[in-house]
Amino acid sequence: MSGASLTFAERLDRLGEVAVKIGLNLQAGQELVISAPLEAVPLVRRLTEHAYKAGASLVTTQYSDDEATLARYRFATDDSLDTSASWMADGIARAYREGAARLAITGGNPTLLNGQDPTRVSRASRAASRANREAMEIITRFDTNWTIVAFATASWAAQVFPDLAGEQAQAKLWDAIFASSRLDTPDPVLAWKQHNAALHAKAAMLNERRFDSLHFSGPGTDLHVGLADGHAWAGGAEHTTNGIECNPNIPTEEVFTTPHSHRVSGHVASTKPLFHQGTLIDEIRVTFAEGRIVEAHASKGEDALRRILDTDEGAARLGEVALVPHASPISDTGILFRNTLFDENASSHIALGQAYTKCMLDTDGTSPDALAARGANSSMIHIDWMIGSDKIDLDGAYRDGTKIPLMRKGAWV
Ligand code: ZN
Ligand code: ZN
Repeated sequence: MSGASLTFAERLDRLGEVAVKIGLNLQAGQELVISAPLEAVPLVRRLTEHAYKAGASLVTTQYSDDEATLARYRFATDDSLDTSASWMADGIARAYREGAARLAITGGNPTLLNGQDPTRVSRASRAASRANREAMEIITRFDTNWTIVAFATASWAAQVFPDLAGEQAQAKLWDAIFASSRLDTPDPVLAWKQHNAALHAKAAMLNERRFDSLHFSGPGTDLHVGLADGHAWAGGAEHTTNGIECNPNIPTEEVFTTPHSHRVSGHVASTKPLFHQGTLIDEIRVTFAEGRIVEAHASKGEDALRRILDTDEGAARLGEVALVPHASPISDTGILFRNTLFDENASSHIALGQAYTKCMLDTDGTSPDALAARGANSSMIHIDWMIGSDKIDLDGAYRDGTKIPLMRKGAWV
C-alpha cells in the first residue's frame, strides 16, 4: 500500500513508529524523555504507544506552550529572565546519564519572539543554555540515543503557507513532512535503511579522501573551512557510545564533520533565513579570520546574531560543516520550511558553537583539551545556518594545495 492512500491518523501513527524504531531505536527496558509543543499531543500519544510496545520502562513528556513562553517575555521582571529551571535540566541530564533516550518534537511558531526585546530574549536563552549544558554535552557526545521529529502546528503552517486557509496550510505542511521523511513509501523502515546506507557510503568516500580543507564559492561566498585534525565524516544513522544505532534527525540528508575552530577564513553569506528560537535572522554575511567571526551583518535580526556570537568564546567559531546537495526530497518540495530541521537538510550548512565528538577519530580516552587542540570547538550553543544553493561550488583541498571538485552548482560532482 502506498503512503498517499493512508488516512491522516495512519500517517501520524507511521511517524510515531518510525521515530521510535528508526529515529531512536528504543531498547527494551529503556526510559524515554520527550519534549513537545502542547499542540503535538496527538503525535506524543502515538509515540508513547510505540515506545511501550518496544518495551520502554517509562515515557515522560515535558510540554511547552508558545503562549506561556510569550507571557514570560511580556510580563516577567528583567531579573527573572536570568532564571532557568535548572532543577529540571539537572534531572533530565541525570536521566540521560542513566541511559534514557531523548526525543524532541519541533514545530512551534518560527517567529514567536519577533518583536520582543532582544536583550530579554538573549538573557533567557543564555540562562537556558547554561542550565542545559550537561544534557547538551551528553547529546553531542552521543552517550545516549536521540532523535528530533516535527509536528505541523497551526502557527508554523500559517507562516509556511500564508496564502492558504488554516487547515489547508496544515495539511500541506504535513504532506511535505511525510514525503521528506520517507513515510509515504510502501515500507518506510526499509526506505530508511537504504537511505542510511547511501549516506554512510558518502561519508566513507569523504573519510577516505582525508581533505585538509573545504572551499565554498559563489555569490557573496568565498570561504575556506579547514577541517579538524583527525576529523571524521558522519551522516545517517549514528552509533551511540554504548552501541545503539539511532537516526538523530527525521528527516536527514546531510553528511557532516568537524571544522578546525582556528582554521576558517574568508566570507560567507547565508542562502536561507535562520529561524532561531522564535527570532528571524536573515541575509547573514560574516567574515572569518583564524577561525573566528570578526565581522557580522544581517538584514534582519542583526542584534540577535551579535548576541548569539557573544554567548561565549566558542560561539563565534564553527563546530560543524555539513554537505547537502541542492536536489533532495526536502529541497525538491521547493518549500522554505522556516524550521532548521528541514531547511538545514535542504542545503549545505555550517554551525556556530559546539562540535560533535562523533565527528572526530580516536576519541576514546581523549581529554576535552586534547580534542580542542585538534580543532574541535566547544560552546554552550550549536546553531546551524544555511550556506548552500544551486549557485554554490565546493572543492576539497589537500594539504599540498591540490583541489578536487566536490560540488558544482549545488550538485555532487
Ligand atoms: Zn548539520
Ligand atoms: Zn548542526
